[in-house]
Amino acid sequence: MATYVLILHCAAPCRVTVGAWGDVTLAAGVHLYVGSARRAWRARVNRHMQSTKKLRWHIDYLLAVPEMQIASVWLTQENRECPTAQTLGSLPGVTLPGRRIGASDCRCPGHFLRLDSPLPVIEAPLRAWGFAPLADASETTSFSCRRARRSGVHAPW
Ligand SMILES: [Zn+2]
Repeated sequence: MATYVLILHCAAPCRVTVGAWGDVTLAAGVHLYVGSARRAWRARVNRHMQSTKKLRWHIDYLLAVPEMQIASVWLTQENRECPTAQTLGSLPGVTLPGRRIGASDCRCPGHFLRLDSPLPVIEAPLRAWGFAPLADASETTSFSCRRARRSGVHAPW
């Protein structure tokens, strides 16, 4: 079971209908989503980057708005989805845009978070927990998730 953290950038404030959960108002700035994939994490991450797909999970609705772009993806092969969501949620400057978003199947306050602090506030703990950014693992220095997602070309990992 791999656990991943999507670091998302919301370009402008917007309102999103997250399926049956309802409407959530998003502020501009950095957001985080913690997810896991039992087997094919590459396929899962690629799925997040595809702009056209059937909306299934809460995160699908959030990524469907043009304002929301994937800035980077952090991954560990460890099964620690809920502990990661809970610990990130307790860091300074991290808040919940809406309770239980992305956490329908567990008891976490939420797997979708907003980050007001600078990125190092979460990067250091992520590294300590064994996460690494996927872009770093790639030899492609010009790699951009955002461009990959827009053009529909699968990211080179
Ligand atoms: Zn959870």
